[in-house]
Amino acid sequence: MSSKKIKEDMKYKKDDLLTVEITDIGNDGEGIGKIDGYTLFIKDAVIGDKVSAKIMKAKKNYAYAHLEKVAEYSPYRQEAKCPVARQCGGCQLQNMTYERQLAFKQNKVRNNIVRLGGFDGDFIDGIMEPIIGMDEPWRYRNKAQYPIGTDKNGNPIAGFYAGRTHSIIPVDDCLIGIPENKEILDIILSHMKKNRIKAYDEASGKGLVRHVLIRKGFTSGQIMVCLVLNYKTAGKVKGNNTNQNENRTVAEYIKGQNDLVKALSSVSGMTSISVSINTDKTNVIMGLEVHTIWGKDVISDTLCGLDFEISPLSFYQVNPAQCEKLYGQAITYAGLTGKESVWDLYCGIGTITLSMAKNAGHVYGVEIIPEAIEDAKANAKRNGLTNADFFCGKAEEVLPEFYKRESEKAGDSADNTALHPDVIVVDPPRKGCDEKCLETMLKMSPDRIVYVSCDSATLARDLRILVDGGYELKKVRPCDMFSWSSHVETVAFLSLKIVEL
Ligand code: SAH
Repeated sequence: MSSKKIKEDMKYKKDDLLTVEITDIGNDGEGIGKIDGYTLFIKDAVIGDKVSAKIMKAKKNYAYAHLEKVAEYSPYRQEAKCPVARQCGGCQLQNMTYERQLAFKQNKVRNNIVRLGGFDGDFIDGIMEPIIGMDEPWRYRNKAQYPIGTDKNGNPIAGFYAGRTHSIIPVDDCLIGIPENKEILDIILSHMKKNRIKAYDEASGKGLVRHVLIRKGFTSGQIMVCLVLNYKTAGKVKGNNTNQNENRTVAEYIKGQNDLVKALSSVSGMTSISVSINTDKTNVIMGLEVHTIWGKDVISDTLCGLDFEISPLSFYQVNPAQCEKLYGQAITYAGLTGKESVWDLYCGIGTITLSMAKNAGHVYGVEIIPEAIEDAKANAKRNGLTNADFFCGKAEEVLPEFYKRESEKAGDSADNTALHPDVIVVDPPRKGCDEKCLETMLKMSPDRIVYVSCDSATLARDLRILVDGGYELKKVRPCDMFSWSSHVETVAFLSLKIVEL
């Protein structure tokens, strides 16, 4: 078919202005409307709105369109609280009421499991529990990483990247973060301006300040700030109008910035000020070299009844309130009575592993990142838990190797509780579990499997494999960890099907 013919076939083309009612919500939170079977995807349009939208990219049966005007307001529409909600890549759903947002997430999980996992809709409706919403959907994040850049007038700015780009939208008070972020950024930016310290420029690789990391222990109240610097000791620091930085270590350099350290250390709750050196041309935020400039190297905090010490490089859950609820649900599904043998695959720093260790016989954690495993072991020790073992490696390698070794050594006996545990918990990244991992889980035949997932599409795929392998899907419960974004966490519970002979 010639391209001319294709064009004639197309119902609509770029720049066409259409009026449409929004009747559905897409996976990324965008509004969906239909005109005679032709589908329009419109970012920032809310289900129930009637909008006029301009086509940006047209295909034969669907198009992406830009929201021009809301002609009739949906009852689910609310004004976004954040002035840059539309430009910033972080929140997709700020103009939807929180209740409607929760319903959207519940439905997204349900539909993915039905469509992608091949489960019966009525069956899933019967076993799904209502989404765990947040008591307070604002100011829930305990960590922020602000990129630092320069505006048109040459002034330093802090903000967030605009959706899918690397240009910085200035925001000093992100409403899902802590209010202290603004105070800390104000101090840093005004110090930079006063002393003519340049922000890092990605294109040229020049300039000093790349990112500011801020973390707060919500239970302890302790705050840490870490400045990520493009600091090269051999040369002078560009943009600073003295030559004295030549050959000074970064610690000496920052300590020389007395005003900055003094102002930051007087922020209420501040306990740790550090710098991280990152001179690579990379998207990775933190450099591995970290120097404490003032206060302690770590902040401490309590999560799920356990004490943690967190360094600028440690992984730590960003929404502690919801994390406790989600893991509480996982523990309930695991049905622990104090005697069980439990594997926790993709265990990170052992948050789930150790909260289960308190109520189980023995727990085994598996995680790919060596530093996280070191943290997990230290966390076990700090909390006096001696019934936890950790393995570093890929779950899809550690588990099959363990299974092979143990079953050869001890024989594949049901009495071997590490080989045939009561419970296996998994909490994989978005791509879900590797097939080899799932296969070995089926061989180990635990009584119960608890699957914690941050992507319901891969969850659906893996649930199908587990159910085909002899498990029964008992319960599914979504949990909102990231309000105003389209992401949703889910915990699913499966139990081994009893086969009657
Ligand atoms: N359960 C943890 C973290 C879950 S995030 C917590 O509660 O904090 C997923 C984790 O899986 C990350 O720590 C990541 O490093 C790890 N991971 C990614 N791929 C892996 C693999 N193939 N095998 C084991 N761990 C993996």
